[in-house]
Amino acid sequence: MDVKKLKNFPAISISVTGTPPTPTGTWRRRTPVHQERLSPCTDLCPCAGNIPTWMDLIAKGNLDAAWRELTDENPFPLITGRVCYRFCEQECNRKGFDDRVSVGAVERFLGEYAIKHHLHPSAQLNQLMTPVTVAVIGGGPAGLSAAHFLARAGCDVTIFDENEELGGLLRYGIPAYRLPKKLLEQEISSMVIELGGKAQMRARVDRDALLRACEKFDHVVVALGAHKTRALFHVREEENLLNSGLDFLSMVSSGRVDGLKVEHAEHVCVIGGGNTAIDVARSVLRLGQKSGTKVTIMYRRSEEEMPAHKDEIAVAKREGVRFVFLTSPRHIIRREDGKRELRCVRMILGESDESGRRRVEEADGVEFTITCDLAFSAIGESSDVAAIISETALPHSEEDVYLEKVVCAGDALYGPRSVSEAIASGKEAAKAIIRRVTGVHHDVASKDVVREQEIKFHYLAKLRANPNIFLEHQLTQKGFRDFAETTRTMTREMAEKEAARCINCGTCIACNRCFDFCPDVSIIKMADNSYTINTDMCKGCGLCADVCERGVIVFDDMEEVNDD
Ligand SMILES: Cc1cc2nc3c(=O)[nH]c(=O)nc-3n(C[C@H](O)[C@H](O)[C@H](O)COP(=O)(O)OP(=O)(O)OC[C@H]3O[C@@H](n4cnc5c(N)ncnc54)[C@H](O)[C@@H]3O)c2cc1C
Ligand code: SF4
Ligand code: SF4
Ligand code: SF4
Repeated sequence: MDVKKLKNFPAISISVTGTPPTPTGTWRRRTPVHQERLSPCTDLCPCAGNIPTWMDLIAKGNLDAAWRELTDENPFPLITGRVCYRFCEQECNRKGFDDRVSVGAVERFLGEYAIKHHLHPSAQLNQLMTPVTVAVIGGGPAGLSAAHFLARAGCDVTIFDENEELGGLLRYGIPAYRLPKKLLEQEISSMVIELGGKAQMRARVDRDALLRACEKFDHVVVALGAHKTRALFHVREEENLLNSGLDFLSMVSSGRVDGLKVEHAEHVCVIGGGNTAIDVARSVLRLGQKSGTKVTIMYRRSEEEMPAHKDEIAVAKREGVRFVFLTSPRHIIRREDGKRELRCVRMILGESDESGRRRVEEADGVEFTITCDLAFSAIGESSDVAAIISETALPHSEEDVYLEKVVCAGDALYGPRSVSEAIASGKEAAKAIIRRVTGVHHDVASKDVVREQEIKFHYLAKLRANPNIFLEHQLTQKGFRDFAETTRTMTREMAEKEAARCINCGTCIACNRCFDFCPDVSIIKMADNSYTINTDMCKGCGLCADVCERGVIVFDDMEEVNDD
């Protein structure tokens, strides 16, 4: 370059000789801040750590590190990747641009990858916790999650469960076509048993047994779930003609349904509108496949009010489950030929109640009859934890002292909810015990959420999600293969591509764009790949914040600096 020719351009300072850039920090009227923020997906997931971080690691092909990052907060990705209602995807910042990122499907892939590659969590042995003994009552997702985090912290953990196998509703509620039992066992074994967690099965814990556990163990986690089937009070039964849907699913899981003769039924009715009703109906379809059993779900409100997950309703319809809405049985009788007659009435929706839900009332009281061979009640469950934990324990009594050792978790604590919420609650129970023992309390600073309007979409290319992500077998009633899984796990290539669609909202992935684009060389890259801003040099032009598509660099309030 001919330097002499540049003499005619005095307003621009170009260094060709290596002189340091002008410290333009004094010009600055606003200051950029480089800070980690919360993504909407992480904000909505009950049990995740930082979704953008493990998504970035997958996109870069570092699957082992991604699994470790993910399982630091959620020890059961293989399970949640299959059955979680994917709260994380609801507000994905990509949803208005092209498609939401399929976080759940990627999580499922990662969980399966870990099993295939024998990945194990590292125990974070904490010397203080080593002699501590903990009894966990209930081996569902809440109890298993508590056991995992306590065992990882070095506690001696024993799970007590009345069933024959661990898993709670994951094993005895959710059918195998949604969560294969072998995979469930593998993840429980890897994340609980191999960490040293012990299990005593067929061990029903009543009130006395709970007090004995409090005497013997330093701490007790109660995670009994919510299994009490709600009664259909308004239905008159002449004998016990209604079967419990939850008991039926438990029998299906244990392979003991022979007594009910479901496989020969012509028509089965399921009363209810939640997930239990859908799982009962789909299980009946499978058992009655050879005789072409017809299944009807009867719900007293309309489809929009159904508490079941929308995806589940759609799949049930596709498989052949029939729905009758705004219908409620009043009277059930047994006919001479053994069939049940459900005398029903039509319902109408009225005004909304305090919860915003529309009231339901009888339309005209005119009865009509639906005939079936079997009828299941699946109107929901409730917690009966009070049966073993006294709510009337007298203060300062011996019992009260024992019960101070108890921490409750999962559905037993707040009523029927979901698997990922139970996992989160079990983790919280473990943390509460760890806090009691160590006396160390970690305050987690709250971060603000990066919303869609802050994402720099002008730097992003539209990339539609692969339509085959769930690889669903589009089953019709003829297509069932017993209880074989109806969806398949994505391939590694698909998972890496999908993870690369993630914008990593609020998480710095060390892409270097702010560093490369800053005209004043004020972005400093540290040895650990983090970035800091040199305010002596930064003139507040805003380029760094503009090129950071994920909203990591923001400006503090219009700071009035250097006015003199
Ligand atoms: C049919 C069905 C389908 C569902 N599908 C989904 C789904 O797709 N996705 C989702 O997120 N959620 C789903 N849920 C909800 C989810 O399964 C529960 O919210 C979750 O399992 C609660 O976990 P938990 O550990 O609190 O309780 P549970 O899973 O109920 O586990 C409690 C454990 O405690 C044991 N126990 C109980 N009483 C005693 C006692 N006295 N002594 C010893 N052991 C005892 C039980 O044997 C059981 O193993 C579904 C629920 C049902 C019923
Ligand atoms: S646990 Fe559920 S909400 Fe959380 S990341 Fe997985 S699929 Fe999403
Ligand atoms: S783009 Fe990625 S980080 Fe952002 S909300 Fe969606 S899944 Fe979460
Ligand atoms: S531009 Fe890249 S390196 Fe800079 S803050 Fe954003 S993500 Fe991090």
